[in-house]
Amino acid sequence: MSGSDSLLKPPCDFVKLPKTDLHVHLEGTLEPEMLFRLADRNHIPLPWKNPEMLREACRFRDLSAFLAIYYKGCEVLVTEQDFYDLARAYLERAAADGVFHTEFFFNPQVFCGKTISLSGILRAVFSAMDDMRDRISCLYLGTVMRTRPVEDALRTLDELAPWYDRIAAFGMGGAELGNPPLRFKRYFDACRERGFRICVHAGEEGPAEYVREALELRVDRIDHGNAAVHDPDLMRILAEKRIPLTMCPISNLRLNVVRDLAEHPLKRMLEHGLCVTINSDDPAYFLGYAGDNWSAVSRALGLTRSEILQLALNGVEASFLPEAQKRMWRDRIRTAL
Ligand SMILES: [Zn+2]
Repeated sequence: MSGSDSLLKPPCDFVKLPKTDLHVHLEGTLEPEMLFRLADRNHIPLPWKNPEMLREACRFRDLSAFLAIYYKGCEVLVTEQDFYDLARAYLERAAADGVFHTEFFFNPQVFCGKTISLSGILRAVFSAMDDMRDRISCLYLGTVMRTRPVEDALRTLDELAPWYDRIAAFGMGGAELGNPPLRFKRYFDACRERGFRICVHAGEEGPAEYVREALELRVDRIDHGNAAVHDPDLMRILAEKRIPLTMCPISNLRLNVVRDLAEHPLKRMLEHGLCVTINSDDPAYFLGYAGDNWSAVSRALGLTRSEILQLALNGVEASFLPEAQKRMWRDRIRTAL
């Protein structure tokens, strides 16, 4: 069996597929074991007795139920070493999973005003990225919480100014319903004025209208975007403009955005010419890294070889990598497949 055959015949070995992970939250890569280790190191009390109990608690009703546990987990991140360990562990795991390029969100709003300074946090995260540079390419995406006032988002954008040369884009996440993208127009306009690309979580729990609002903001990329599948006109616009959607199938399953992966809109959107991609979101809490998402969705949707190739190439197209690197990775993906 040739290399390309073993890559795609069941059981598919997606670890060997060169792939991207463009929608992942660094805080959401905190594995239960590390969470307990850091809680112990920093003397932080936890509501769970052990990692197994935490895993058991990760049966989420919806996005809000997940976010409650996610923010509780963030409390154990206290020192520079904690942030370094977290970033390093994610990058090592992603590299071992066949991810050649990742773009991760990290929200400093969650941690600022606590014991560690913003410069301490970012020094740790950037050190981990630099130390792993030979094994995985990585870009940092600044992000803010949509549940807070727009003034907070603008303040965070200002506070990050000393590190603008290390930030590839700015985004927005958090509980979506009732917090439409246009409410943050001033923040996104400010990001664009400063020369940044922008991405927005939209159409995960929210309606197709939120995806339309994201387009009004002139986004470079939409995170999730599932709800667009209900709006044929919007699908046509997304396909024509090739606005990428960073979809996260296992996250959608765990948060009941889809009842079954077989109902996931990714394949239909791909057939309609949209630039859809496969990503991990919060892999430690949703029990699925990039390779797991590729395997699960490929099985559930019966993806063909050419669809898998197109999805991998979409990941390169959707990335914020320079064009020369995109060309190199397209060649490598075609060779691998
Ligand atoms: Zn997300």
